[in-house]
Amino acid sequence: MNDLVNRDLDTIWHPYTQMKTAAKPIPIIKGEGVYLFTEDGKKLIDAVSSWWVNIHGHSHPYIADKVFEQLKQLEHVIFAGFTHPQAVQLAENLLSIIPKNQAKIFYSDNGSTAVEVAIKMCLQYWSNKGTQRQKILAFKNAYHGDTFGAMAVSGRSAFTAPFDALLFDVEFIDLPNKENLSTLKSKISQLKSELACFIFEPLVQGAGGMLMYAAADLDELILHCKQENVLTIADEVMTGFGRTGKIFASDYLENKADLMCFSKGLTGGTMPLGITSCKQEIYDAFLSDDKLKTLFHGHSFTANPVACAAANASFDLLMQAETQQNIQRVETKHHQFKQQIEKHPKLKEVRQCGTILALEWNTEGTSYFNNIRDILYQFFLEKGIILRPLGNILYIMPPYCISNTDLDYIYEQIKIALEDI
Ligand SMILES: *Cc1c(COP(=O)(O)O)cnc(C)c1O
Repeated sequence: MNDLVNRDLDTIWHPYTQMKTAAKPIPIIKGEGVYLFTEDGKKLIDAVSSWWVNIHGHSHPYIADKVFEQLKQLEHVIFAGFTHPQAVQLAENLLSIIPKNQAKIFYSDNGSTAVEVAIKMCLQYWSNKGTQRQKILAFKNAYHGDTFGAMAVSGRSAFTAPFDALLFDVEFIDLPNKENLSTLKSKISQLKSELACFIFEPLVQGAGGMLMYAAADLDELILHCKQENVLTIADEVMTGFGRTGKIFASDYLENKADLMCFSKGLTGGTMPLGITSCKQEIYDAFLSDDKLKTLFHGHSFTANPVACAAANASFDLLMQAETQQNIQRVETKHHQFKQQIEKHPKLKEVRQCGTILALEWNTEGTSYFNNIRDILYQFFLEKGIILRPLGNILYIMPPYCISNTDLDYIYEQIKIALEDI
């Protein structure tokens, strides 16, 4: 049985893992609904949706069938000079549910590449128009991915420290609130002739610690960017496809971003796939008889048909009334639990946005490396629940199909943790 673990340790380097001190990886041999099954027969509730990607449960039979059918039909084809039914269908599907100002779909492989593409589109948009605009505006504590461009527009932290000197300069501003809005707006006005774009995670900063902020304040910032002719990018990689209670966090906004990034829940968490969408005006700025105005970006697996088939299947499931009801049900259950515990002396704050519930533990220092993280992680694992705190921030972000019984069990265990730890 240890064979798999030993073979892993002999050969594999895991993500975000200090390989010297980390516990051995847990072999998972099956997934079904919200459950993951370990090699030694334990059943774990996946309460973090396997790094926020899973929305309909593991190994969903409908997605599996569609993927299998597609594999037998066409596994992959070069996407320059060629197209295929799944890519066209997915573009139509997505355009039917994202804000109406979005006109074109560009495919890539994951959330980080979706962000890279959005940034390159904005920078080259200005360059194609013969204007020099090379500064990017982002929020402090932002997370937009781990490739260099995505890292550069993310908040500087312990994770970026070894690379900081090589990351391009970005203007970081505080999250908006009623008090600082006018200061933020005048900063944007001051910088506007240099600003290529403003990138943000709408409503929830995920990896930054499930930090939440008001749609109305973001709305004002986006409107101000429009007035000042600064492009805006909504990074919906984590917030998309129902996470925040509506299909997109942008659905809470009146002013829509010029570009949007998608991944994670896009394929229901089945296959890697990224999408950058943009409004017509961005696309048009690349149309030219001058070949140098082309967007020179592409990946070997751009619009992989199998990944697109998984995304189309996930779309079908997301549009079902039952899924929409499940999203509302999880949101209501989280809300009730929040009211029960938010006054607990061990908690500094409890935050909720749709299906995301975050509990900030009252500890010294809020660093990711906080001890409480390891203690809580281990505590819940022993209870058969995968919860992976960000430092002192414990959050639940389950697949929408999670049952009330499993939610209640998780809430019960959190209450015990609040008493005992
Ligand atoms: C996870 C995440 C990314 C990066 O996506 P990957 O697929 O992990 O590269 C980008 N933006 C946000 C908001 C994310 O949560």
